[in-house]
Amino acid sequence: MTITFEPPVIAGTPLDDARAQLREATTILAYNDGLYDMLATPRREVTVSIPLRRDNGEIELFLGHRVQHNFSRGPAKGGLRYSPDVTLDEVRALAMWMTWKCALLDVPYGGAKGGVRIDPRGYSTAELERVTRRYTSEISPLIGPAHDIPAPDIGTDEQTMAWLMDTYSVQQGHTVLGVTTGKPVSLGGSLGRATATSRGVVHVALEAMRSRGIRIDGATAAVQGFGKVGRYAARFLTEAGVRVIAVSDQYGAVASHIGLDIPALEKHVDATGSVVAFGASEEITNAELLEADVDLLVPAAVEGVINAGNAHRIGASVIVEGANGPTTPEADLVLNAAGRLVVPDILANAGGVIVSYFEWVQANQAYWWSVDEVETRLADRMRGAWEQVNAHASRLDLPLRTAATCLAVERVAQAHQLRGLYP
Ligand code: NAD
Repeated sequence: MTITFEPPVIAGTPLDDARAQLREATTILAYNDGLYDMLATPRREVTVSIPLRRDNGEIELFLGHRVQHNFSRGPAKGGLRYSPDVTLDEVRALAMWMTWKCALLDVPYGGAKGGVRIDPRGYSTAELERVTRRYTSEISPLIGPAHDIPAPDIGTDEQTMAWLMDTYSVQQGHTVLGVTTGKPVSLGGSLGRATATSRGVVHVALEAMRSRGIRIDGATAAVQGFGKVGRYAARFLTEAGVRVIAVSDQYGAVASHIGLDIPALEKHVDATGSVVAFGASEEITNAELLEADVDLLVPAAVEGVINAGNAHRIGASVIVEGANGPTTPEADLVLNAAGRLVVPDILANAGGVIVSYFEWVQANQAYWWSVDEVETRLADRMRGAWEQVNAHASRLDLPLRTAATCLAVERVAQAHQLRGLYP
């Protein structure tokens, strides 16, 4: 008797979406249920409790997770998220998407993700350092340059990675630069890493717009999220001649039909912490931003923002997913039927993991590349992956997401088959 093992998930969550995308790919690839189950289920996951002594002496407890989805093609790789919305299911979905992303871009990694359920804005730097060190200490048996290599994600940054690297190194008794990527450049970080995800987003956004016959100079764009990904995406789009007419963050959205002055907006955000109340703009809502009548929409914030509720109102011709999982499978159906081009996250935002890979290579060799070397290799890989996915989609008459997922899943499945099952 065969028992199909598919752990229950709550409908409409990122994990539900990730499994639906995998199911579609394994159906097209004619894989059996056993292989689907292996690919749908994390290889290893841990939940840890993190007691924090606050600056005022009180104790507060947080939950943290690290999910290692797959190691077939190499050590697991994936970001660390600090957000009050973190759940184990979300981390599982993000870990699975990392596996496909690394396989699609042909970097020798599997997929992982971490998360701590905390709103970092409510804590001092010293408190965040203690949370990071305790979390790192709890997961340290699982991580390492040959095992699992964290990186920044929502709510974490290069300082978080420096604390993580230091804690791990103290435990090992020697400095281990390769345990994390996205570190400060003065501590073994790679030149070009901080902007790599956004540069990659813009490389594929320009290719995608050209494939639709959209003239880049004067094209219009809206960017949701003005953090590590959205901010530089807006900057690089502007530098390429695109008019960024709307941007947002979790506090609100601003717009200008003549195009926002992005360098001035960046200064405003540095001074105030938000895009809201930027002088040369009008206030709109995040919902209006997503539905703006633009050539390009870059969701670069959180999951599920383009869903069955608003997909039919999306105005952009091309949607390039800076965020992980911003479009639900239901919304994909609507957008595909309406002839919108959706460039999926596992391709569009892979620039970060590509330069993370470069950083890990540099750290392991203790030999550093120039920023030009990093950015030229990044551009080559992103454009190469775009061409491969676009050609595969055209050949099989599939949406880009399905084509990309099929290519990635096939590579992972092939690694499984070649390695065989132990024992
Ligand atoms: P970040 O914390 O630096 O920025 C997140 C931004 O989104 C902030 O401006 C925040 O205010 C905004 N935001 C949050 N909730 C929002 C909402 N509901 N509506 C509108 N804006 C909202 O995070 P980041 O590193 O820029 O990551 C953004 C997305 O990109 C995430 O999905 C992340 O997984 C993905 N991603 C990041 C990287 C990377 O290198 N940082 C790489 C690949 C993918």
